[in-house]
Amino acid sequence: MKTLLWIQGLTCNGNTQSVLNGENPSFYELLTKVRLLFHPAVSYREKLHNVVERIKKGKEKLDILVVEGAITGDERFGRAGKYSITELLDILSRKAEYIIAAGNCASFGNIPALYSGNPDVRGLQFRFEKKDGYLPPDFKTSSGYPVINITGCPVHPAWFTQTVMAIVEGKDIMLDRFNRPKELFMYLPHDGCIRNEYFEWKVESEEFGHKEGCLFYNLGCRGPLTHAPCNKVLWNRVSSKTRAGMSCLGCTEFDFPLRENYFETKKNIGIPEEVPLGVTKRAYITITGVAKTLKNERLTKKLEETD
Ligand code: SF4
Repeated sequence: MKTLLWIQGLTCNGNTQSVLNGENPSFYELLTKVRLLFHPAVSYREKLHNVVERIKKGKEKLDILVVEGAITGDERFGRAGKYSITELLDILSRKAEYIIAAGNCASFGNIPALYSGNPDVRGLQFRFEKKDGYLPPDFKTSSGYPVINITGCPVHPAWFTQTVMAIVEGKDIMLDRFNRPKELFMYLPHDGCIRNEYFEWKVESEEFGHKEGCLFYNLGCRGPLTHAPCNKVLWNRVSSKTRAGMSCLGCTEFDFPLRENYFETKKNIGIPEEVPLGVTKRAYITITGVAKTLKNERLTKKLEETD
């Protein structure tokens, strides 16, 4: 059975909360497939430093190291018992067969990297879009993989557990340019969004929480610009931001904390500054212009008012 060790750097604990509330498989189902060496929120008998000593001496194998939170060399933060997070990484990164960064802080540095004012706060292999993380850009574990980034603020529990299961089952994991599993991150929240017809006919939602309309044109939805399967692997199996009438905030991308005014669409002479991925501005203007002219009456009514 593969072993799994979870450690934390600078974190709000959000990824832990998310993963512990996961389903399909749940964290507890996952524990029938992997042996948990330590998790700061779950392990109460085991001490982290004892686990680390056993790994150091070769008495315990470390198959999957999971890191939550940004990495800092500042000794005042990110301590786990007698070790700082960097001391832990120096020891464990050489021993782990796989390393998973759970969430955007461990992947990109995210909010701690931006607001700490400290250029040494970073992700495991990236600092925002640059390969300037704590571990070298060409770092690979003994399995031949770099740090596998499961991004999101927080990480989706099923994206995490399904990646661990892929490792347990010995499957190949194809990664994108930010080292995220393609199986999950080749999709956009726009794929599978129930508001797609409104997007096509350029019918904008009037307000958050409404059943009708798309949130792209005024309300800042990043669904067509973000890599994440939020409308394919739903949250708590039932919903997503856009299904609930809330804009996608693009929280799986490196620039999530760098953007401003999340709830409005930045425009130049009425045209969104950023258009859907893969579409030129010219094509976007042509298609939306046609859609606007050929109005779809059904979509401009409230759903309750339709026959
Ligand atoms: S609400 Fe967002 S994700 Fe849904 S169709 Fe509109 S732009 Fe796409």
